[in-house]
Amino acid sequence: MRNGKEVILLVEGNEEIRRVETDFLEDKHCEVIGMEDGKQALDYLKENPYDTDLVLTSIDAPVIDGKELLRLLKLSQRMKDIPVMVKLPMDRAEDRTEVMNNGAEDVLLTPYDERAMFHRIDNIIMAKRRPFCVNIMEEAVVRELDRHIDELGVCKCRQCRKDIQTLALNRVKPKYVSSERGKILSGLDQLSSDYLPDILCALTESAEIVKKNPRHN
Ligand SMILES: [Zn+2]
Repeated sequence: MRNGKEVILLVEGNEEIRRVETDFLEDKHCEVIGMEDGKQALDYLKENPYDTDLVLTSIDAPVIDGKELLRLLKLSQRMKDIPVMVKLPMDRAEDRTEVMNNGAEDVLLTPYDERAMFHRIDNIIMAKRRPFCVNIMEEAVVRELDRHIDELGVCKCRQCRKDIQTLALNRVKPKYVSSERGKILSGLDQLSSDYLPDILCALTESAEIVKKNPRHN
C-alpha cells in the first residue's frame, strides 16, 4: 500500500500486454509497477518487500520465469508473505497444480475476462488485510451452544440460536489468538478447561433471556 493505493508488481515481458494491464489496473486505482522480467522484479522486491500488495506475473516472464520467481519469493523469509498470482495460457492448464502447490495465491488462465481478474485480485488483497488474529471465544460459544442446546431447553431455530450466541459473547471476555489455523485449534482445546465455566454460565443466562422473549415468528 502506498499513498492509499494497492501496489501491484506486474511482471510481463510483452510490452503491449503490460501496457494494457497497467492501464486497466490504474483505472481501478491501483499503483502498478511494471517489470519486463522476473530478475528486475526480484531485485525490486528485495529492496521493497513490505509495500507490495500483489505480484502478478506471467508464467513466461523473461530471465526468471513466473514459476522460478514464485519459488524464490516463497523461500525468502522477508518476501514469502507477498501474494503471487500467476498468469498461465489456457493450453498450459496442467501447470496450474504445480504453481498452486508452490504457494501461488491464485492462477489466472489467459485470455481472461478483465473484470473477473480484478475481482480475484481484490479478493486476494482483502484476504491479506484481514486482522491476523481471531477471537476464539466466537468459535467456542458456537460449539458449546451446539453441545448443550438440549440441556438448555431452548428453541433451536436459527433466530434463537443467533440471539443466544450474541448475548453470550457479550458476557465473556474476548480471547484473541493468531489466525493461523493450527493455532486456532490448539487455542480452542486450551480454552475448554480455562474458560468453559464462564462460557456455560454465559450461555445459561442468555438462554433464559431468549426463552422469555423469543424473537422468532
Ligand atoms: Zn426460536
